[in-house]
Amino acid sequence: MAAATESKTVHSAAVTYVSMISLLTLCPPFVILLWYTMVHADGSVIKSWDYLRQNGLQGFIDIWPIPTAVAWKLIACFGAFEAALQLLLPGKRVEGPISPTGHRPVYKANGVASYAVTLITYLSLWWFGIFNPTIVYDHLGEIYSALIFGSFIFCIFLYIKGHLAPSSTDSGSCGNIIIDFYWGMELYPRIGKNFDIKVFTNCRFGMMSWAVLAVTYCIKQYEANGKVEDSMLVNTILMLIYVTKFFLWEAGYWSTMDIAHDRAGFYICWGCLVWVPSVYTSPGMYLVNHPVHLGTQLALFILAAGILCIYINYDCDRQRQEFRRTNGRCLVWGKAPSKIVASYTTSSGETKQSLLLTSGWWGLARHFHYVPEILAAFFWTVPALFNHFLPYFYVIFLTILLFDRAKRDDDRCRSKYGKYWKIYCQKVPYRIIPGIY
Ligand code: NDP
Repeated sequence: MAAATESKTVHSAAVTYVSMISLLTLCPPFVILLWYTMVHADGSVIKSWDYLRQNGLQGFIDIWPIPTAVAWKLIACFGAFEAALQLLLPGKRVEGPISPTGHRPVYKANGVASYAVTLITYLSLWWFGIFNPTIVYDHLGEIYSALIFGSFIFCIFLYIKGHLAPSSTDSGSCGNIIIDFYWGMELYPRIGKNFDIKVFTNCRFGMMSWAVLAVTYCIKQYEANGKVEDSMLVNTILMLIYVTKFFLWEAGYWSTMDIAHDRAGFYICWGCLVWVPSVYTSPGMYLVNHPVHLGTQLALFILAAGILCIYINYDCDRQRQEFRRTNGRCLVWGKAPSKIVASYTTSSGETKQSLLLTSGWWGLARHFHYVPEILAAFFWTVPALFNHFLPYFYVIFLTILLFDRAKRDDDRCRSKYGKYWKIYCQKVPYRIIPGIY
């Protein structure tokens, strides 16, 4: 079963336990404290710390919002709307990469349409006075609290489904209930034939909520102050460009680690349902109550630098995909690509071939595409300037996440490609400065 092969590529049981205990015990309170600090403690970690020191555990319990009916309704409406768009909007048929068991998932690529419909609907509801997005901001704590509990229950559902009704051959138990729950049972869980759960959690709920919340923060600042500061505009525009880029490239995302290798478990689903809407959007959450004025020149400089980083990150992903799609018969930076033809054996014993690109962005350094990803996050955070540390939490978290991801990806590729990966690593090592060792 795929699970047995793939489980070699996720962390060991010991790391899973430490990671799971930390995620379960530290992340939910962190999400609440992050929201509390941004919204009620002026973005100051020191203020929140003083509050907790004075009031202890009871003080923390007092600030933890109880999920209210309004919060559940907002989540349910958003989730149902996104699920309906995912199912009903037309889109091109796209095939995902072939899985270790030889299964090829098929998707309907309607991400851009869903994204456009979502933002147009949300802005229209506000413009015509039908729904005021400030309600979302005003109930943000309750929404996060509901997401924390709701997503945990959703992950239990995924675990049970993985045991009782797996959707494809890419599923199975590794024999350890905790690892199964945490890393997931199914690679491609679906409800019925067409409703792909990971597309919903990762793209249509997680990434979509990022854009919706970015717009919400902007509107909240506008409604509170009668204008939107240039810092908020730069932050919102960069985040929206990033999410737009994501949806333009969504079919490509379906062949990355998140979808093609990481099974649907607590790690990835909880992350997309709770961590993305809270932590990823947090620089904008901070700016609502901190209307920093940058001035036109500085604002434009940050905006241009952020757009450039998002573009480079996009182009790295595009280059790899184009190269794979055309089987190496494309131009990379105007030249025929240099490559390694690597063979590997699937879990069913079949020998297959894959191409590893060693020129263009992919020849500069291994995992080079993570550099512009981190820099882009820095540029949509820096409009907050340097009065408080907390807005930079996402940049720091992302750096750690991508270091871990690079290691996990290297381990996986080493076990998949063996000697070919060794040759690849010699040709394209990790480099601090591209082009120099
Ligand atoms: P990718 O899946 O895009 O790339 C890694 C995979 O590509 C490897 O597993 C391997 O898969 C294949 N590969 C590796 N080297 C080569 C090569 N030289 N030529 C061709 N194929 C190769 O990486 P990620 O999923 O990590 O990243 C995708 C995007 O998502 C990036 O833009 C990244 O920055 C972004 N990202 C953002 C995060 C966030 O939280 N903001 C988190 C993670 C990623 P195979 O088995 O097919 O050979």
